[in-house]
Amino acid sequence: MNKTIPKLEAMDDFCTLDYKLQLCRSAAKGAWTGARYIESLKDGRQVWYDGEVIDVTRHPSFQGLLMALAELYDKQRLENNSADMLTELDDGSLQVSASYIVPSTREELDKKWRNSHKWMQLSYGQLPRVPDFMANVVVGLYDFRHELGKVDPQFEKNAEDYYHYCREHDICLTHALGDPQIDRSASPVENPDHALRVVKRTKEGIVVHGAKQLATLAPYCHEALIYLSPAFYMRESPEFVAWFSVPMNAPGLKFLCRESHVGTSNGFRHAFSQSYDEQDSMLFFDHVFIPMNRVFLLENTEVAAKGFHELNKWSLYVGQIRFYHRLRTFLGVTSLVAKSIGVDGFREIMNRVGELTSYVELVRSCLVGIDSETRISSAGNIAPGSTLALDSFASQIAPRINEILRDIGGSGIIMQPSAKDLANPELRPYLEKYMKGKGVDVDFKTDLFRLAFELIGDRFGARQELYEIWNRGDIVRTRMALCKSYPDLNNCEEEIKDLIKELK
Ligand SMILES: Cc1cc2nc3c(=O)[nH]c(=O)nc-3n(C[C@H](O)[C@H](O)[C@H](O)COP(=O)(O)OP(=O)(O)OC[C@H]3O[C@@H](n4cnc5c(N)ncnc54)[C@H](O)[C@@H]3O)c2cc1C
Repeated sequence: MNKTIPKLEAMDDFCTLDYKLQLCRSAAKGAWTGARYIESLKDGRQVWYDGEVIDVTRHPSFQGLLMALAELYDKQRLENNSADMLTELDDGSLQVSASYIVPSTREELDKKWRNSHKWMQLSYGQLPRVPDFMANVVVGLYDFRHELGKVDPQFEKNAEDYYHYCREHDICLTHALGDPQIDRSASPVENPDHALRVVKRTKEGIVVHGAKQLATLAPYCHEALIYLSPAFYMRESPEFVAWFSVPMNAPGLKFLCRESHVGTSNGFRHAFSQSYDEQDSMLFFDHVFIPMNRVFLLENTEVAAKGFHELNKWSLYVGQIRFYHRLRTFLGVTSLVAKSIGVDGFREIMNRVGELTSYVELVRSCLVGIDSETRISSAGNIAPGSTLALDSFASQIAPRINEILRDIGGSGIIMQPSAKDLANPELRPYLEKYMKGKGVDVDFKTDLFRLAFELIGDRFGARQELYEIWNRGDIVRTRMALCKSYPDLNNCEEEIKDLIKELK
């Protein structure tokens, strides 16, 4: 690092009163209800979709997930969920989401995981960036605050305040870590537009300019947490190293959504894509002002490098809980598909379903193992063991689980009648006779195979597969990190050296 970000004195033109007010929002009310959550998204945000700015609470392509999230927030309060999904502030003044628990005892960690299992099971493992995920990154930020304080005591205070703010307001977050995919062989120092950068800094805050690729769930979130993944923290110039949070309606922030993957209905039922297309967005920052109390780190690559894994100590485990529920969904659908066409007893089919079952059981066992190897963080909290090996395994088997379901389902994956076909009295006798399955009627078989198609066949399924491969970052880097950090590697080598000595 050979230069620092220029410091200016006045920032008034960027820091309007409205924007300052948005940062406090309304009085804290704790865990959302669905209705309050939907209302909270009407805040003037610049969501660009198909060439125009849209209102996410009204646009048809955004309705499915909006309702699914609202329903999940409401389900937190149901009698059989609330004990696991909600918790009280210490002074008993507010019921907040259990996602924000900072666990300092085994009981608190257990409750945290029960809460995550509920979120993931209720959404069939199809909603990777369910709000529970990023809440756990904020828990990681809070836990890492003392290290940030060594860079600047203000950063420590900011992280602490931000945690309380998010917990008490149940802030739903997205995150964006990567540079836009323009030219990976070029350094942003050569062309600063290749990465988000700090262009001004004063006592009051910073101004950031540039773009981030990408932020899942962004249109449905209240704020974005911006930091850097291992691929991007090694910067040659300090203005590219910045951790901060930003409200989705901050002046100058635009987000561009990809094409919706919600299944078009036309009489066809698309249960997963209609509820769980969580959207992915590019974030464009056009001279966006970030007040200093929302800045968590500037310029320091060493702390940025250390921080990535520290911030994600709980969230990566939560991501694996979600993956486990996704695998259970695959197993349920695959096994029923096999039974419904009478192939479940065939040797080759049992081999494939058995392989899929082994993945479910391996991930479950890994979750148990990683949870049993808890470590105490530098702030004195209980965190699970490392998920690095499981992260690389999950990316590796993601295409394979799709392949297994595709191989078993055959042409039935696509050849199913629509709801209108099923309702037509002239067609109905043919469908009942020729499109039923073994022990299942045509209605059940159609719904089952449509779920299978959504998991592996349509745009929704293709995106989910891509997500599984890339969401934990580049698998090559994950494996490199594993091979550099594996604690038993040295012992393995020494044992072989001893064996070679004995052979002489
Ligand atoms: C569905 C989906 C959702 C996502 N959600 C989020 C999110 O919410 N927040 C977020 O921050 N990120 C998110 N990501 C981004 C994810 O973290 C990245 O996809 C991942 O880190 C890989 O980066 P990239 O896509 O830019 O690929 P690139 O980095 O451009 O890589 C493309 C190829 O080039 C290779 N490559 C790149 N650089 C090098 C190099 N220097 N040396 C050698 N080989 C190289 C890679 O190995 C890869 O094969 C999401 C991704 C997907 C697909």
